Amino acid sequence: MSTPPLASGPEGPDALRPLLDTVLGALTDGAAARGGPLPAGGPGQVAQRLRAALGDPLPHHGSPDALHTLVRALAEGAADPADPLCTAHLHCPPLAVATAADLAASALNPSLDSWDQAPAASELEALVARALAHLVYGTPDAPGTQDTRDTQDTQEAQGTRADAVVTTGGTESNQLALLLAREKHHGVQLVCGAGAHHSLHRAAWLLGLPEPVVVPAPAGILDPAALDSALTDLRGPLLVAATAGTTDAGLIDPLPDIAGLCATHGARLHIDAAYGGGLLFSDRHRARLDGLAHADTVTLDLHKLGWQPVAAGLLAVRDPTDLAPLAHRADYLNADDDTEAGHPDLLGRSLRTTRRPDILKIAVTLKTLGLHGIGRLVDQVCAHAHELADLIAAHPAFELYDRPAISTVLFRPHGATDDTVAAVRRTLLDQGRAVLGRATLDGRRWLKATLLNPHTRPGDLATLLKLVEGHTPR
Ligand SMILES: *Cc1c(COP(=O)(O)O)cnc(C)c1O
Repeated sequence: MSTPPLASGPEGPDALRPLLDTVLGALTDGAAARGGPLPAGGPGQVAQRLRAALGDPLPHHGSPDALHTLVRALAEGAADPADPLCTAHLHCPPLAVATAADLAASALNPSLDSWDQAPAASELEALVARALAHLVYGTPDAPGTQDTRDTQDTQEAQGTRADAVVTTGGTESNQLALLLAREKHHGVQLVCGAGAHHSLHRAAWLLGLPEPVVVPAPAGILDPAALDSALTDLRGPLLVAATAGTTDAGLIDPLPDIAGLCATHGARLHIDAAYGGGLLFSDRHRARLDGLAHADTVTLDLHKLGWQPVAAGLLAVRDPTDLAPLAHRADYLNADDDTEAGHPDLLGRSLRTTRRPDILKIAVTLKTLGLHGIGRLVDQVCAHAHELADLIAAHPAFELYDRPAISTVLFRPHGATDDTVAAVRRTLLDQGRAVLGRATLDGRRWLKATLLNPHTRPGDLATLLKLVEGHTPR
């Protein structure tokens, strides 16, 4: 076998073109073989088919068929978020244009740990990350969330300095937020609501912080009175983590109240907007994030309400000097004399070393759709959630948990036990008919539909309910 071709270089595009045809054909074949939102047969049959396709994973002699075989097998066995009946998680269908940009990122393979591996990509990351930070914190010329209270001037002054670092998602962003707080205050106590994401607890554990103080969230959102009393009782540096878009129900904590309490008690504020941050793009829904600009750090996750292929996370930081603890020297990557000579020092923008240019697909999406175009997608999925909630509320067989806060709808068959709710979900999964999530709220188990597909039609939502109804034992 001759030396295999490379993806970049003058011959890269010509080498890629026929391979792309193979990939696209395999995606089509695999999806047709699946014939639904996920493969039928449950874990056993899926594993068996995948094993048959893979064969020996370490063959002595390779075969050019592997690309088609394995891509087809993965597509056949995929849970496809572009299928309107695939609605379990914050697992978005990526935009075609973002995915195409990601191909270029793989072909060029810049690595964001030193300028000499990513000359243009490093500048793109700096510009786009800062622009997104300004969207969070508001600048005079960007439609941010700056509110019109007395602090507006300082908000804007800080907004123009705000920055963001690129992460692999909400988990890494939350972890960095805790790390920056710990470093700034020489230790910190995390205080979060009962609905806060599990990654915050893990980050506290990983960083050697005390057990988080969990404040009750009786209606799914952090209770300001309970937060006030917790902050009154606690001593030492405190970090409050609020959530804008809980994973289970999409609920948004009362951000202005929480920001006010943090100011009163001198606590630092982190807002996990991994889900709800997407509302920033929407003229209709942006105001629901009022208060976001008061946070010291904000988690964003554009592989949720941003329609990016994984990974596309950011941590926005109001005061960029908070990022100082990430500074790090490695002579082969950011020698002092190179930095003094004007070569950007990139190591201090992440805890990772080799790092993909995830900013490219984000930048391409922002420029292709514009804020207005992304905002329309947000509006569409929020509207779909309301349509589904309407159908459920009007349906005698179902109980609706509540009106959707973002694009998550929780419901359950009337009179079903928690075990029945779990069994219906599993049956639909195993039969390959629908992908629904589950959440326990108010002490009961609910089916969860997280609507992230802007192409969903009303008929799809009715089909989803019909499937659940038809598979509920009575
Ligand atoms: C999804 C989610 C996270 C974790 O993000 P990953 O990208 O999965 O690491 C954190 N917080 C909230 C509220 C989330 O919904």
